[in-house]
Amino acid sequence: MRNKLGLSSGFFREPSLENWRSALDAGFTEVELGMSAEEDVSSMLQKSAARLAFFRDVGLNVSSVHLPFSEVYDPSLLDGEARRQTLDRFRDLIAWTGDAGIGIAVIHASYEPIPEADRAARLEAAVDSIAELGEWARRQRVRLAVENLPRTCLGNTAADMLALSGRGEYASICFDVNHLLIETHAEFYEQIAPHTITTHLSDYDRINERHWMPGEGTIDWAELWQLLQVHDYQGRLIFELNETAAPSLDRPYTPKELLEAFRREAGIA
Ligand SMILES: [Zn+2]
Repeated sequence: MRNKLGLSSGFFREPSLENWRSALDAGFTEVELGMSAEEDVSSMLQKSAARLAFFRDVGLNVSSVHLPFSEVYDPSLLDGEARRQTLDRFRDLIAWTGDAGIGIAVIHASYEPIPEADRAARLEAAVDSIAELGEWARRQRVRLAVENLPRTCLGNTAADMLALSGRGEYASICFDVNHLLIETHAEFYEQIAPHTITTHLSDYDRINERHWMPGEGTIDWAELWQLLQVHDYQGRLIFELNETAAPSLDRPYTPKELLEAFRREAGIA
């Protein structure tokens, strides 16, 4: 397996040096830094800078950020003035990302719910926003990656994802394997594979996203791993879950156990 392994920054309830060293020892080299949605961008950036310094001290490579998502941080807003302000905020966050030498910024194309009657207009607004932010990101040496989402969110099908990413022209794609509620992994991934540069891995029950440890849900990990291999996926494997997300265990699991579960389920020696 040549793909780099990573964890989302929210993995540990107690984000101590010792805990994160155990992730490094287990074989995780990458971290995706989550930015929680706050109105005050400069406060968000201060916190992000402190967490970036922490992870670098541990010896981990923060190779992506997860941009915030909320009613405010929604690229599909129909109100032009509100959307302009939102894009300004995203631009500041992406500029910080580039300055910090972090190469990927993951973005949600919308918040939720998206009423069916608004869907076409919201999609059009989101496509415009992502085209604009994708161009801005390139100038900051950051690759913007739109994430596929569940439920009524924009990006819940391959067709949405092709529109939102402009088939790679506006942005790349982050494949979240526990967000597919309409299409199968094969149906979805076969269409978006050429544009996919990063992943969010976790298990689920296909009823909703769950962010469980591999093996806890219904994903056929061997089949999924095969699918990624067939399309020569060489990007990072980012596990987007936290240490308590294994309903069958009554305790937190370690990064080592997570990796063992993934390898076992995927049939990786
Ligand atoms: Zn995700």
